[in-house]
Amino acid sequence: MALSKSYRYAALLLLVLPLSLRAQSLWELANDNKDILKISTLFTAQNVRAYLSNEDGIGSAVKWCRDTGVTHVFIEAFRGNYTAERKTLENAKAKFKAAGFDVSGCVTTTRVGKISTGWNVISCYTNKGTQAELKRIFEYTASIFDEIMIDDFLFTDCQCGKCKTARGDQSWAD
Ligand SMILES: [Zn+2]
Repeated sequence: MALSKSYRYAALLLLVLPLSLRAQSLWELANDNKDILKISTLFTAQNVRAYLSNEDGIGSAVKWCRDTGVTHVFIEAFRGNYTAERKTLENAKAKFKAAGFDVSGCVTTTRVGKISTGWNVISCYTNKGTQAELKRIFEYTASIFDEIMIDDFLFTDCQCGKCKTARGDQSWAD
């Protein structure tokens, strides 16, 4: 008798559990547990131009993120010698914040100023023009976002005459 009673409780539990899980949306579950696992996504500068420059696009992006359990969005200001427009970035930031998301900026340092003698998306950082452009990009992004993720393209493989001189007796790795 005792055994069949516990089976009955187990059956009841199995019935109730899926119902209670279904009552909480993925968005709510993700928000309640973001100290354990935070799901983020990046809108590249080109994504910002293509998808976040009008209200319909932003609405679709917000819905997709909610449906996917994304709670933190990175909105990129620069990539591949393209700077996203200020009003587009500011509007997207405001809309995502109003919808309850954590929002940060991002910069991908590809095709900044003078191009490297190596990989053609990488830059020559001994070049004063590259340094000035890098400063402009980060000042611009920091004027919009409180936090900036820097994509891992921030390195150089340039071996131009000025970089060789600047290297001196050190190895390229040094
Ligand atoms: Zn160089």
